[in-house]
Amino acid sequence: MNLDLLAQTLAQLGEPKYRLAQIWKWTAQGAAGYEQMTNLPARLRDELTARVPFSTLTVEHEAHASDGTIKALMRTEDGRVLEAVLMRYRDGRRSLCVSSQSGCPLTCSFCATGKMKFGRNLSAWEILDQALHFRRIESVDHCVFMGMGEPMMNLDNVLEACRRFPDIGITNRRTAISTVGWIPGIERMTADPMPLRLALSLHAADPQLRSQLMPVNDRHPLPEVLAACERFYERKRRMVFVEYVMLAGINDAVPQARALARLLDPRIYKVNLIPYNPTDVGMAGSTPGAIEAFREELERHGMGATVRLTRGRDIAAACGQLAAGALSVQAATAVGTGAG
Ligand code: SAH
Repeated sequence: MNLDLLAQTLAQLGEPKYRLAQIWKWTAQGAAGYEQMTNLPARLRDELTARVPFSTLTVEHEAHASDGTIKALMRTEDGRVLEAVLMRYRDGRRSLCVSSQSGCPLTCSFCATGKMKFGRNLSAWEILDQALHFRRIESVDHCVFMGMGEPMMNLDNVLEACRRFPDIGITNRRTAISTVGWIPGIERMTADPMPLRLALSLHAADPQLRSQLMPVNDRHPLPEVLAACERFYERKRRMVFVEYVMLAGINDAVPQARALARLLDPRIYKVNLIPYNPTDVGMAGSTPGAIEAFREELERHGMGATVRLTRGRDIAAACGQLAAGALSVQAATAVGTGAG
């Protein structure tokens, strides 16, 4: 819902100021449309239905996995595609994975989104509408910006959406922003008062390998990125989650685990190893044995590490594959850093 357009329309209709908050409250609590807002005059509900689209997004396709994961392929008013995922856990946690951009301007070599043509930044309303879509299905309480795009390159809109997430049921502590290491964004997040979680996609401790996997490493080299993460920790006292996607024969050898452990202060970072979800870029994921050996080596060197549970495999909804549908790449979304 475009709240700017709503505010303008309400003003044109000569409605009192409190209407905006009234309508947002219904929407954030999962109302399916203006017609359900029983404390609005019927005439106003009709007028809004005609003039302010209830969502800035239309759902093109929705897939339901056997583990309860739901993936939605959505389209903006100007025809851009994006995806968002709801992950359901046995402990009752309901976690969203949302997109910040349609496509992505970065070109990480293992990621399907990077192969897709970059569309544009999503507006704050388009980010909120991804969450609202799932809020209409059930209550939600966690969110990760790990769908399409680099959230730090669209940080104004991402933060604007985060400011409204608590109304939907997702506190800032339970919201994680994941970045390739875009330093100006990390700095802005450090200065922002919201207690958001920071997650860093690291993927290789060795600078040359990291640059091969993530060309953005040439622009924002890892030592400078880590220094920015450490300033974030100093200010916020919230641990930074490191994402490390496990690629067979590329970054999954035991000495590479040692190098990673040497690089990271265990008081500040926690490592989340991500089983690679196959895409059509020609890389293979590490075996479960290799992932476990890597994790054990990290632990042996004092570095806390977990292996990410992959969700939604059977509907092709996993991390880095969120170009699916749009590109007919098979996808699967894994979960989040379990923020909060
Ligand atoms: N641009 C941000 C936000 C996207 S997050 C970032 O990179 O952090 C998407 C996460 O999924 C990143 O950690 C990314 O490296 C990871 N990923 C990308 N492709 C993947 C794949 N095929 N399998 C598993 N994880 C993948």
